[in-house]
Amino acid sequence: MSQQHLPHVHVIATGGTIASRPVSPTQTTGYSQVALTADDLVAGIPGIETRVRLTTEQLLATASSALEDADLLRLSQRVADVLDDETVDGVVITHGTDTMEESAFFLNLTVHSEKPVILTGSMRPSTVLSGDGPLNLMNAILAAAEPQSRGMGVMVCMNDHLLAARDVMKTSTYKVETFQCLEGGCLGTVMGGVVRYQYAPLRPHTVRSEFDARELTALPRVEVVYTHIGCGTQMFRAALESGCPGIVVAGSGNGSIPPAIHEMYRAWPGQKPAFVRASRVPGGFVGDYSGERDARNGTVPSCGFSPQKSRLLLQLALTVSSERDYLCGVFARY
Ligand code: ASP
Repeated sequence: MSQQHLPHVHVIATGGTIASRPVSPTQTTGYSQVALTADDLVAGIPGIETRVRLTTEQLLATASSALEDADLLRLSQRVADVLDDETVDGVVITHGTDTMEESAFFLNLTVHSEKPVILTGSMRPSTVLSGDGPLNLMNAILAAAEPQSRGMGVMVCMNDHLLAARDVMKTSTYKVETFQCLEGGCLGTVMGGVVRYQYAPLRPHTVRSEFDARELTALPRVEVVYTHIGCGTQMFRAALESGCPGIVVAGSGNGSIPPAIHEMYRAWPGQKPAFVRASRVPGGFVGDYSGERDARNGTVPSCGFSPQKSRLLLQLALTVSSERDYLCGVFARY
């Protein structure tokens, strides 16, 4: 087949371990980051040019723990522009694993296209023994080229799995099987170069999302406060005093929050920021089945989004309205 008739996938590189260069084939930690370019990465996949027409660009070259809100906006706007090109069938983003779930979720809520958008990376540098980067990248490219991937929302492709951006979470600091969906969201697999789907997401994403990042130049500031035995109210007070329009509190269990924090919020004079009640527990749901406790405290239950994903959803929701009823509806719907 001539290259003209192959599916066209555009690879956007942003850095991360997948782009790192270790000093030896056994150096799986402590390597220097972001040494390989987008072109170096695709050159490591033998024979891919017989299945996919590839184009590449280097958008960023950074560890994903250093990303800022401005980078998320830039990435979302760039992906939207690339997908507007009718010759492009799908996009792959190479990304550090530390915050991959956040970028994937943000894109899932802001890129209005049915075309596949797939993030990948690696837990080991690509050139060490059993480096997982080249296979992850090949699988992500094949999935982005696959017509069945249209309309599935943004996905993470790692360790042979296709994982919904809404649900995926990094669960281990070192395992290659670190990305998991604890409550459902593993949509399919890529094995032996074959893409297979078993499930499709039901919640709004991409073309059905009400959020638009194309015209945004900044996101509303939302702080995350972590709770624990003896946490006191100092961090929560600092967030209130900062004047940010939203706070996510990572409570324990079903989003349980020390009473002193609720009291401080209820008594806070003047304009109160939106207060989302999330949980530091990775799986499960955060809700108040009667709704009474949240109504009394003025809180918005996260409905199971992690604190870091609650932050992104709240930032986008605040670009529409800060009304508590609207925010409760967004968290329940998405
Ligand atoms: N520090 C890396 C990052 O950029 C970790 C990784 O990619 O696995 O997130």
